[in-house]
Parts: sequence; structure tokens; C-alpha cells
Amino acid sequence: MNRKSLLYESKVEYGGWTINHAQGCSHGCRYPCYAMMLAQRTGRAKTYEDWCAPKLVDNALSLLDAEIPRLRHRVESVHLSFTTDPFMFDAGAQAPLRPMVELTTAIIRRLNDEGIRVTTLTKGVYPDDFIEQVSSLHDQNQYGVSVVSLSEDFREWWEPGAAPIASRLASARRLADAGGRTWASIEPYPTPNVDPTSADIRPLLSALESVRKVVFGKWNYSSLVSSFPEANGHYEKAAVAVAAWSQEGGKILHIKNGTPLSEAHSADVLSAG
Ligand code: SF4
Repeated sequence: MNRKSLLYESKVEYGGWTINHAQGCSHGCRYPCYAMMLAQRTGRAKTYEDWCAPKLVDNALSLLDAEIPRLRHRVESVHLSFTTDPFMFDAGAQAPLRPMVELTTAIIRRLNDEGIRVTTLTKGVYPDDFIEQVSSLHDQNQYGVSVVSLSEDFREWWEPGAAPIASRLASARRLADAGGRTWASIEPYPTPNVDPTSADIRPLLSALESVRKVVFGKWNYSSLVSSFPEANGHYEKAAVAVAAWSQEGGKILHIKNGTPLSEAHSADVLSAG
């Protein structure tokens, strides 16, 4: 598919300049995925199955060539992505979705060549051949992984097309070992009636030891979560644990609005550094 424009300024929390270079996402998260709901509302995806069969933006690189000269003086960094996943996984092949990874890599390189740094977030994996290139990319790029549970039972139901959790964590560690700046998004964090392992967040935090920055947020707008009688206490306990872990490990923490301790932890996780 072709688009008329690519770079836009997002108004979401910790937003900024953004590129969504595909329509749809093979991960098919059932939280639900707000990008899918928006696509369905605007007629860009008719069904869940339609959403899970992503269409890449074929003219993404030519759009970027046209937009960079016009916007360069305003754009310091670009986030990939808010309404798709830049390192999408192919669950059938149990491997990165190659066309998406190649387009993402080309976009990162094009932006970095202009001195524009990039932030990424994925529920896929960073392939080894991408990690090998990290030292030649902008040294202030920030590479994120989205992980809210260590449970594969949870992942299989709520994130059915996403990469296995251990693979995501391993690729984040390899990126960090290769000198990449890594961060983690722990959001939407479940309640124990959704995922029993969420009662204790510390094993998940231990698995994320290699990342330098963290975003933590509760699960919003779910009757399943709000019907859990101890939801407030659960999120307070988890937020306290995340804050203590971040402080001990010298990690930069942003807790999202509406989650306990958000006022005390509002770092700009996607900034340089
Ligand atoms: S990875 Fe993100 S964009 Fe993709 S389905 Fe899940 S929530 Fe939606």
C-alpha cells in the first residue's frame, strides 16, 4: 500500500515524531490493541484477521526522502512505532517478519544518516543481523522491548502472534551487550485474575536487568482488570517494586499517568542518554 505522508507528531504520552510504516500488526494483541480499534473505526481494517495481515507502506522511503528536507530542523528523534510494530514477528515461521525488518532497518539508517536518532519498541525480536549493525547506527538510538509477563500461557492468549517472551528478552540482552541503549515497556501490566504470575513483578524485573530505562503502566479500560477486587493494592505494590528496582539499578523510570507513583516518576524515557 502507498501513503501520502509518513512523519507525524504524536500527542500521546511520551509521544513525539513518529513513523508507522505498516497498516496492521501480525501480533494481534487482545488487550485490546487501540491501533486496531482505531483502524476498524476508520475502515482501514475490517476484521481482526485483516489487522493481523499487515500491509507495508511501499513508498515509505521515498516519502521520507521528500519529508526530511522540509522537517529536518524540527525533528530531533523519531519513534517507531505507535500503531504497528517495527520488528514484527512471523509466528508461523517463528522468525522475524523479514520485509518489515528490512524496511525498518532502512528507515533507521536513513534517519540516522541525517543525524536524527530513533527510538523503537517491539513485541518481536531484534534479529542478529540487525544487532550486528548497531555499532554503525546513531549512538543515541534507544531500542525497546515490550514485556508484561514471563508467562507463555499469558502470551499465547493475549499476544498470540508476538515473539516468545524469552526470545524478546534474549534479543534485548544481545543488543545491550552490543552497546545498544535498551529500554523496556511494562504496560499494560495485568492483574492476577488475568495472569497469576503478575502477583509478584520481581522475577520479570530481574529478567529485564540489562535495560537502562523503563516505562510502567497499569492495564486500563478492561472490565476484567477493574473487576479484580484488589486491583488498586496490586498496582501500588507493583509500582513500589518497580521504583525500588529502578533506583537500585540506576535505571530511568517513567510511570504512566493513572498508575500509582506516576507523579514521582515521570522521566522522559525516549530522550537521549
Ligand atoms: S504489538 Fe502493538 S500494534 Fe501490534 S497488535 Fe500488539 S498492541 Fe497492537
